[in-house]
Amino acid sequence: MSPQIPTEQMAQVINKTGGPVEFKKIPVQKPGADEVLVNIKYSGVCHTDLHAVNGDWPLATKLPLVGGHEGAGVVVAKGELVNDIEIGDYAGVKWLNGSCLSCDFCQQSDEPLCAKALLSGYTVDGTFQQYCIAKAAHVARIPKDVPLDAIAPVLCAGITVYKGLKESGARPGQTVAIVGAGGGLGSLAQQYAKAMGLRIIAIDTGAEKKKMCLESLGADSFVDFATSSNVVKDVQAATEDGLGPHAVLLVAVNEKPFQQAAEYVRPRGTVVCIGLPAGAYLKAPVFESVIKMVTIKGSYVGNRKDSAEAIDFYRRGLIRAPFKVVGLSELPMVYEKMKKGEIAGRYVLDTSK
Ligand code: NAD
Ligand code: ZN
Repeated sequence: MSPQIPTEQMAQVINKTGGPVEFKKIPVQKPGADEVLVNIKYSGVCHTDLHAVNGDWPLATKLPLVGGHEGAGVVVAKGELVNDIEIGDYAGVKWLNGSCLSCDFCQQSDEPLCAKALLSGYTVDGTFQQYCIAKAAHVARIPKDVPLDAIAPVLCAGITVYKGLKESGARPGQTVAIVGAGGGLGSLAQQYAKAMGLRIIAIDTGAEKKKMCLESLGADSFVDFATSSNVVKDVQAATEDGLGPHAVLLVAVNEKPFQQAAEYVRPRGTVVCIGLPAGAYLKAPVFESVIKMVTIKGSYVGNRKDSAEAIDFYRRGLIRAPFKVVGLSELPMVYEKMKKGEIAGRYVLDTSK
């Protein structure tokens, strides 16, 4: 390893499910033969990181755990088998930290479905540290003219909603409802949807998120799920012919909207489930789903090509979503705000602070 790489670094670590997160010194790891060591400069904080702390999902995390999976930084070391990314290159550590590259799913570029997938900040240590390991094949290649703070949220939130919009099959000129529009995924989803020529109905709550969606992110209308007396009617009324949106992107962190979307989606429409509320179930009326020929599907992050495309949308100036930069030491504050649903857009951690 090059001498500039320290042996110790600062990281946010949980020792048991439920937390707390502890800001402390831990050793810097050495990359294996097919891995790179990335000096993380900025890391976004995704709601998935909070699910990991809380142990919300039927999948155990590694413990102790360094969370985080929206890490943008610089390659500082690499294993002897790595020959297509260089020391000094910009790289992004994503949720998909690695996969086997040889199973049925990996062969078909469906690597998120690989049974041996390594998940950053969940089954392997993630980006809430200054130096993070990832498989070279899976780190996102970030062009040098892209700012590392702004691209961090794209590395999970951006890739995921970009993929979800493709999975929705919505075409230019059609309408997509984005449920959870004021959060990290939702804010980027509006920008990707706008860039794809879609009309947008943003669904979330509060004056700050409403203003952000309508004035900065490109939403055509906003439905406040907390004050609306009939969300289904209001969403349908927000489309020109009153028949409802062609697609629904569910990025909310509550179960309720997952049980409403099939009711307001347009006949032949598609409901794409992306958010992962704890213990939630999908529910849809069979009669209406059948006679409206509704499609309901899940969408899970994106593959390496989706990742490169999502980054390229940013590079081309098409994607600008608000984010706030605070120090890595302030992660507990970010989690507190996230729990209360108080974050409009994304928080990004500066690992030098
Ligand atoms: P976030 O906390 O930034 O945003 C969630 C938003 O949902 C908030 O603005 C909140 O106000 C809103 N919301 C809550 N209840 C709602 C309701 N009833 N109707 C409409 N909006 C509602 O979270 P995030 O980081 O954007 O993540 C969202 C979810 O997506 C999380 O569950 C996360 O784990 C999941 N996720 C899934 C994937 C995937 O690949 N499928 C990838 C990343 C994140
Ligand atoms: Zn995420």
